Amino acid sequence: MQNKHTYDAIIIGSGISGGWAAKELCEHGLKTLVLERGRDVKHLIDYPTYNTPPGNCPTAVISPANNAKKIH
Ligand SMILES: Cc1cc2nc3c(=O)[nH]c(=O)nc-3n(C[C@H](O)[C@H](O)[C@H](O)COP(=O)(O)OP(=O)(O)OC[C@H]3O[C@@H](n4cnc5c(N)ncnc54)[C@H](O)[C@@H]3O)c2cc1C
Repeated sequence: MQNKHTYDAIIIGSGISGGWAAKELCEHGLKTLVLERGRDVKHLIDYPTYNTPPGNCPTAVISPANNAKKIH
């Protein structure tokens, strides 16, 4: 006998759009499948600048109006 899986919704991609849609659908009781082709991103481990203060982040864009004293 064939193993069958059925879902109320199938979401392709777990970016902000797909992730949020999945959250909403699940919270409304829909059986939801999310398919993601990208690598497995580990929570916190894969956010290398998560705890870096804005002034120390090499790619940070600092607003001169708000941070003039910090960068000069
Ligand atoms: C360098 C950079 C910096 C950015 N900085 C900011 C910022 O500071 N602030 C801000 O608001 N926005 C920023 N953005 C924009 C923001 O990232 C996007 O607007 C947002 O991620 C779009 O969300 P999305 O869910 O539509 O797509 P995505 O986040 O791109 O998610 C799509 C997902 O679908 C997956 N996928 C694609 N095709 C398939 C497939 N065939 N099968 C399975 N999975 C698939 C992808 O792997 C991905 O995980 C930045 C974007 C870039 C590139």
